[in-house]
Amino acid sequence: MGRRMAKETPFSCSCGALHGHITAAGIQSGTHVVCFCHDCRAAQLYFGQPDPLPGPVDILQMSPEEIQIDDGAEHLALMQLSPKGMLRWYADCCKAPLATTSRTPKFPFAGFIVKRISDPSGLGPITTQGFVPQPGGKQSHEKLRYAAAGLATRLVKSWVSGSWKNTPFFDPETQKPVATATILSKSERAALYV
Ligand SMILES: [Zn+2]
Ligand SMILES: [Zn+2]
Repeated sequence: MGRRMAKETPFSCSCGALHGHITAAGIQSGTHVVCFCHDCRAAQLYFGQPDPLPGPVDILQMSPEEIQIDDGAEHLALMQLSPKGMLRWYADCCKAPLATTSRTPKFPFAGFIVKRISDPSGLGPITTQGFVPQPGGKQSHEKLRYAAAGLATRLVKSWVSGSWKNTPFFDPETQKPVATATILSKSERAALYV
């Protein structure tokens, strides 16, 4: 998957108040995937985005420390679909979803919403497809090995270098999320899985 021309790539929320960039290293080591899972869709609906159905959500799986907010970090806000759900980060100025992370910085994973990137041509082709609908209502993953290999490589690098501690999402001292999560109630959640 040689993306030798990887370069720093700007992103922004819908209104532009929060903007930043993904480092060249983040683009280089990221895995471009699409995800058909019900949670990814539910989050898009919660944030008032167009319903992705029947299509997937376009995601760059990457190291969270390679996401850098240049302006408007005060708009960074947090939602969880359920108490144990992934952290779904968004910009509260316009409700644009930005990225999904694990609940602890010690597992440095981010799924960056590709729609936030005005020119995604440098991300390379989509490799893994997650939760692809199959006949009979089942879902399966395609080319999962690309996502698995990318994740393993990134985790080792973050852990060995200690770079996992420096992300826009967690306080480097306390390792707590920088925003308080809005956690959806059962009924709020139910409305998003129809
Ligand atoms: Zn905004
Ligand atoms: Zn998903």
